[in-house]
Amino acid sequence: MAVGLFGGTFDPIHNGHLKIAFEMLHLLNLSQLRFIPCALPLHRSLPSVSAYDRAAMLELAIEDEPRFVCDRREISRLGPSFTIDTLAEVREELGPDLPLIFLMGSDVFHTIDTWRHWEKLLAYVHLFIVDRPTLSAQFPDHIWKWLRIHRISDLNSLNLVPNGRIFMTSVNALQVSATEVRNLLYRRLPVNQFLPSSVFKFVQQNNLYLDDVNNESEKTSFVQKNTISR
Ligand code: ATP
Repeated sequence: MAVGLFGGTFDPIHNGHLKIAFEMLHLLNLSQLRFIPCALPLHRSLPSVSAYDRAAMLELAIEDEPRFVCDRREISRLGPSFTIDTLAEVREELGPDLPLIFLMGSDVFHTIDTWRHWEKLLAYVHLFIVDRPTLSAQFPDHIWKWLRIHRISDLNSLNLVPNGRIFMTSVNALQVSATEVRNLLYRRLPVNQFLPSSVFKFVQQNNLYLDDVNNESEKTSFVQKNTISR
């Protein structure tokens, strides 16, 4: 059975992440889905959430589903984390024959050409891309070209070979982002439809996301840097 991989900042993990993770788990009958929180850049100056707190919230959010696992390798690794290195490592650990399927939203796929060695990703994994409805369907030309070569329409064919294919789906993604959640938390507005209660409890107990999220400029630059270092 295939193993799923889901990388992200998870700042914090929210029900939008969990919804597509469950969809993928069931659609592909995965033996495991590994959430891989990325490391935060060291020079982040906004008092916000450490990589360890993000991973802790992730673990709380997934604790009831035994096939969901938090893989902390990127936050334990020294130096920048590149997804390609993570995927090479996981492939090495799990062997050449197991289908590995990397989950991402279409917003991330839009900028995949900013990732290190992006064209080599398919040497390690398949990509499972979930449409995020707020985004335009237009990809840059070279990404379209890449997509046309590797895209398959039969989901089950992801289980037939270990890597190399791209599947796009418009499963009903929940319209929420971590940015929105941080905003709601800062404004003390209800988040119960977006955040698992265990995560909300952790946020409250640790006084997280109390900073002015209108001051996102600095943070955005970190997220962009982080994206580029993928
Ligand atoms: P932010 O608002 O801080 O950018 P985010 O909500 O996009 O955060 P990330 O941790 O950056 O969350 O995303 C991890 C992965 O989850 C990405 O591939 C992203 O596209 C995907 N994702 C996030 N939210 C959703 C959602 N509501 N539906 C589908 N995919 C999502």
